[in-house]
Amino acid sequence: MDKKQLVIIGSGPAGLAAAIYAGRAELHGLLLEKLSPGGQVLITDRVENYPGFPDGISGFELVDKMAAHAKKFGIEQRNDEVVSIERRDDALSISLAGEDNILTEAIIIATGATHRSLGVKGEKELTGKGVSYCATCDGPFFRDQVVAVVGGGDSAVQEAIFLTRFAKKVYLIHRRDELRATKVLQKKAFDNDSIELVWDSVVEEIIGADSVEAVRIRNKKTDQDSVLEVQGVFIFVGIQPNTGFVKGLVEMDEQGFIKTDEWMRTSEKGIYAAGDCRSKPLLQIVTAVSDGATAAFAVEHDLS
Ligand SMILES: Cc1cc2nc3c(=O)[nH]c(=O)nc-3n(C[C@H](O)[C@H](O)[C@H](O)COP(=O)(O)OP(=O)(O)OC[C@H]3O[C@@H](n4cnc5c(N)ncnc54)[C@H](O)[C@@H]3O)c2cc1C
Repeated sequence: MDKKQLVIIGSGPAGLAAAIYAGRAELHGLLLEKLSPGGQVLITDRVENYPGFPDGISGFELVDKMAAHAKKFGIEQRNDEVVSIERRDDALSISLAGEDNILTEAIIIATGATHRSLGVKGEKELTGKGVSYCATCDGPFFRDQVVAVVGGGDSAVQEAIFLTRFAKKVYLIHRRDELRATKVLQKKAFDNDSIELVWDSVVEEIIGADSVEAVRIRNKKTDQDSVLEVQGVFIFVGIQPNTGFVKGLVEMDEQGFIKTDEWMRTSEKGIYAAGDCRSKPLLQIVTAVSDGATAAFAVEHDLS
């Protein structure tokens, strides 16, 4: 079986940056992606904090450029899902959801993270029927309607602002009495007349027969329940790493993010991790691409 020098798993910003650096280093590599290249950035309406784009850039356009850049440096790409990794003598063996296995000397895990759900009554049943985790994908369906956004971080606030382009009113429901989002985003939300902040409140239930009709919320300070009539609920309450397929193989923190050193090396020789799947303080595009570049550099260094 043909043995690769490097397999990069995931083609979000971290995987694409790793692919650019690996391609330029002329490593015999492969980039695996289970969906379309781009990762979470594909569902981000506008990116305003990536250096080099003072007027902001659409998420789609940004990752499209990154994917074209990776392609230019010639790394082989394949569409498949990695289900497990195991060590086989002096190589690492990758099992795919498709038929065959791949042997490689090194792996960069760049599988990112996915949204957390609230876990409340009605959420699962009404997902796709008014409950959404992607404002860019579903926002236009809520033209002139009333929606709720749940969360208080950058993603929640940014997407609440985006939704005011379509919805006539956006409730921003947050469990604390102040937002976690960066100050510039907070100011934009406070200045937006279509956004109403609902402080100290948690969603207890999403109500609706065939589609979302309302949310039942509880004020944590007064312990009182109330119902907000909405047609859509957008949930941005954090993310969890896509690392289940390497559980037990590499060291992780208590939330399942992979621990690395500053070269992106994990506890297992030959396996590196980059981007949102890695345990680190800031999960952003700029840190993901930095991790990807460092990981590919480390692979090149360690293999030689
Ligand atoms: C709504 C929203 C708005 C955001 N806004 C911003 C912003 O304005 N600025 C900013 O800097 N950051 C923003 N972020 C965060 C940013 O998108 C992430 O930090 C970044 O995408 C992380 O890149 P990544 O490559 O590590 O992972 P991801 O982007 O998550 O990409 C991981 C890729 O791996 C693939 N994959 C997963 N598991 C497997 C597997 N087993 N086999 C094969 N492929 C697999 C996935 O399909 C995916 O394509 C936002 C995120 C969201 C959700």
